[in-house]
Amino acid sequence: MKKLNILYASSEVEPFAKTGGLADVAGSLPREIKKLGADIRIILPHYGFIDEQTHKITEVPSSEFEVTLGEQIVKGSLKQASLDLNGKQVPVYFIHNDNFYNRGGIYVNPITNSDYPDNAERFIFFSRAILQVLKKLGWKPDIIHCNDWQTGLIPLYLKHTYKDDEFYKDIETIFTIHNLAYQGLFDKDLMSIAGISWDVFTIDGIEFYDRMNFMKAGIVYSDYVTTVSPKYAEEICSSVEYGYGLEGVLVYRKSKLIGILNGADYGIWSPLKDELIPQKYSARNIAKKVINKKALVEKFNLPFNENIPVIGMISRLADQKGFDLIEAAADELMKFDMQMIFLGAGDYKYQNLLERMRKNYPPKVGVHIGFSNELAHLIEAGSDIFLMPSKYEPCGLNQIYSLKYGTVPIVRAIGGLEDSVEHYNTETKSGTGFKFFDYDHSSLTDAVRFALEVYRDKPAWIQLMKNGMKQDFSWKASAKKYIALYRKVLRVN
Ligand code: ADP
Repeated sequence: MKKLNILYASSEVEPFAKTGGLADVAGSLPREIKKLGADIRIILPHYGFIDEQTHKITEVPSSEFEVTLGEQIVKGSLKQASLDLNGKQVPVYFIHNDNFYNRGGIYVNPITNSDYPDNAERFIFFSRAILQVLKKLGWKPDIIHCNDWQTGLIPLYLKHTYKDDEFYKDIETIFTIHNLAYQGLFDKDLMSIAGISWDVFTIDGIEFYDRMNFMKAGIVYSDYVTTVSPKYAEEICSSVEYGYGLEGVLVYRKSKLIGILNGADYGIWSPLKDELIPQKYSARNIAKKVINKKALVEKFNLPFNENIPVIGMISRLADQKGFDLIEAAADELMKFDMQMIFLGAGDYKYQNLLERMRKNYPPKVGVHIGFSNELAHLIEAGSDIFLMPSKYEPCGLNQIYSLKYGTVPIVRAIGGLEDSVEHYNTETKSGTGFKFFDYDHSSLTDAVRFALEVYRDKPAWIQLMKNGMKQDFSWKASAKKYIALYRKVLRVN
């Protein structure tokens, strides 16, 4: 059987750099693929905030390379570290260039809260640097597995710009869509910086309403497209609402599009192993969960009462995540006997919303604006209910983590939320959470009301928690599907 060489390219990788689920996937999936025997290596930009000592990052000797960006020659080099896997190492490479990456944020300037104006150049450089540096590595991938718009140009470069270079001839590409709403749309003047021929600035190529679309390049030029849940794979082909203008090209590529549900890394996200929570627990000693609930509620300076349900939410503060519904439902929700705890970073309008809710309902609402991994774990472990009322959700990870923590999810029935949560049935006591369908605030309020009714029936609630804790969304099954896809793309056994 042929040994697979895979390069996994991502702009975020946990534990080095994270804004959302992409980082969790890029930090876990390659390890699982490695366990199945592939030589998989990860590559990401060398952001300035990544601590070199903590992660034992070193220079790769003689790795200096040059990338042509329009009139300019830009130099870069490679650094390396590894992710440990029970003694086996997954190599991690970092593209180093101070000018582009030695900053406080990944995409957004943390001081102004706005996108870096040169994000196009930063990820054009990243994509070309990856291809340049391969020649220095003495290791050649069979497949470059690209993720989201930041790596969308790689398949295009291979199919066009580099197509006559023997070195790249047999490298195939897989492009995974983690979120179709972020497409990397840029002015066409950047075509020359990207070094892409105008031949491909067409409706069948990279052009999108007279601009460059990096996501579209990934979809059009890769050998296979994947997305992070089967339901989302259907949805993005079905309408402009989910396809964000790319539904046509996705339908065109449908025979080479597959949805593979993300998994959870239970080494990090399991109440039995979680090093970041005050009290470990499992389905066997579920009563201990309340110790985390107390710690959580007190951490947010709210009065603690064991019998008052706590609804938690951990989220990027973005339109996608349903905060407009929460805003519309807030007064109704606050009539219920419960507490809500929010952790989020992002749009000012939603920061303000949450601050307002905290001010208006002081004993009921706890808010932390910012990014905190510790608090994320505490909320998973300490809440009774986890809320994800997303407008769309490619996969969603927190509802999957919540199931394992016995923190019952309330979700909108779309995308990966639909694929991973089963609606509770009062008759049979089956199901793992609560779903609502319509994107409106009364559907959300109804779902919360129903959940709180069930919460008052203690034996039923414990059964529901245990149903969720039994679910197994570990990465193994998904990793096997990726391996099968790699082999299919390479036409090898
Ligand atoms: P998305 O990728 O759309 O942001 P996911 O549910 O797939 O949503 O993944 C979100 C990941 O980011 C989870 O691991 C979640 O715990 C984490 N996360 C989101 N916001 C925060 C935050 N403010 N602090 C800590 N972790 C966060």
